[in-house]
Amino acid sequence: MADHFTIIRNGRLVDIRRREAAPADILIEGDNILSIGPAGMDAPPDARIVDASDRAMMPGLVNAHVHGHGTLAKGMVGDRWPLELFLNAMPGMTGHRTLEDKYLNGLVAAVEMIRKGCTTCYDLFFEFPLPSRDGLAALGKAYQDAGIRAVIAPMLADKTLYQAYPDLIDNIPEPLRAQVIAFQLAPYQASADALEAIYQDWPFDRELIRPAIAPTIPLHCSDEFLVRCRDLARDYELPLQTHLAETKSQAIIGLRKYGRTLTAHLDQLGMLGPHFSAAHAIWLDRDDLGRLSDNGASIVHAPVSNMRFGSGLAHLRPALDRGINVGIATDATNSSDQLNMFESTRLAALISRVQTPDFEQWLGPDEVLHMATVGSARAMGLGGKVGEIAPGFKADIVFLDLGHINYVPCHDMITQIVFTENGGAVDSVMIGGRMVLDHGRLTTIDEKKLRRDATAAAERLFTANAPMRSFAKDLQSIVGHFCHNLACEPYHVHRLGLPHES
Ligand SMILES: [Zn+2]
Repeated sequence: MADHFTIIRNGRLVDIRRREAAPADILIEGDNILSIGPAGMDAPPDARIVDASDRAMMPGLVNAHVHGHGTLAKGMVGDRWPLELFLNAMPGMTGHRTLEDKYLNGLVAAVEMIRKGCTTCYDLFFEFPLPSRDGLAALGKAYQDAGIRAVIAPMLADKTLYQAYPDLIDNIPEPLRAQVIAFQLAPYQASADALEAIYQDWPFDRELIRPAIAPTIPLHCSDEFLVRCRDLARDYELPLQTHLAETKSQAIIGLRKYGRTLTAHLDQLGMLGPHFSAAHAIWLDRDDLGRLSDNGASIVHAPVSNMRFGSGLAHLRPALDRGINVGIATDATNSSDQLNMFESTRLAALISRVQTPDFEQWLGPDEVLHMATVGSARAMGLGGKVGEIAPGFKADIVFLDLGHINYVPCHDMITQIVFTENGGAVDSVMIGGRMVLDHGRLTTIDEKKLRRDATAAAERLFTANAPMRSFAKDLQSIVGHFCHNLACEPYHVHRLGLPHES
């Protein structure tokens, strides 16, 4: 429990708009920032003092799309897997999880995020064959124990990859085909009912761990399921996120199946709104952006997995020009290899530079840092509470060591946070007024024990999931070729680096 009052003295406060880090003191009451004043400002005599000498204080980074369930599969993503091969391999990476494994997944994710300057995450959490109260409680407890703020969105689907891509199953020979058909997710009513019961009795303090909902990929959900998710989001006032037009194959199949783009289809179903965020959002056209903008929806940019899976380069400037809120995310350990928001933020700025020679259109460091804090918070329903160091906001503060080589010398704090910082200078992290990382030491978690437990769990799971990995391997070439052929078909949006024929 944080002390009632805390005063942070001697630090330099990062101001994204002014692009500076000037001396300032921060007074905190409980988990909220009460006021910010000049160095030496008055504070209640019983206030706990935090000395931030030689530290820059920046808002905690906000990771607007991650999957805690992927953490124990670190290092298991194939060398050359597009998204569909990753989805094909998912059961072999995440099967046979016990509740303890689900807890460890969350804990490993939380430790990495905290150590790399992230104080809040939006976790899209998947359980097979349907979400469970105990599984969700295990993940939430991990985040609570680590002390990181989280919005947890159970990830839902009632169709497997093989059902979502209708012609795919016809390309799979027997006996594999029979096995693929036997692999079923729960009917949507069962998942939605289970989830509704959880929302009615949410087991966490919503100030730290909040609920949300995530129909995973539109093509993987029947329309009835999407509508039920829409209604749950409305009834329980939940943020809703989906993977939208992440790959060219999805965009092509969406157009074929719905007779309109994926975004237009979701709009038609009444899914869009200020609570809606579109993860990846790569293969969007102008009309799609107009629909997101008209509905006050957000985009969540995940540049590392977009490139790791070769999905394409999302084009953000046209979205920003339409006033769409944009957040930034790492995506999962088993899609992006690390949960480093500094890396994702830097790449957001860098990628924009190879999309147009018109340098005025490139994303500046102040813009991407705003996205990685304020933009992400807004996308997950935490706007006005998280993402800034300002009175009334949660005391979520990252302390950067100005003696670290990343700031020797230091000419421009914002440029160097975005382009130079890699997480190496993160010295301390405060979340809700509580120091969860204190001069490089985690105060909430025994990292040595975590290493032992996570390593043992990963080894056991690797053995248990061997048959499923072998099954995925048998399907790999069929799924891979099917999706590659699809991705070679024409689509009216271009998001890959070189045209197919180059
Ligand atoms: Zn994802």
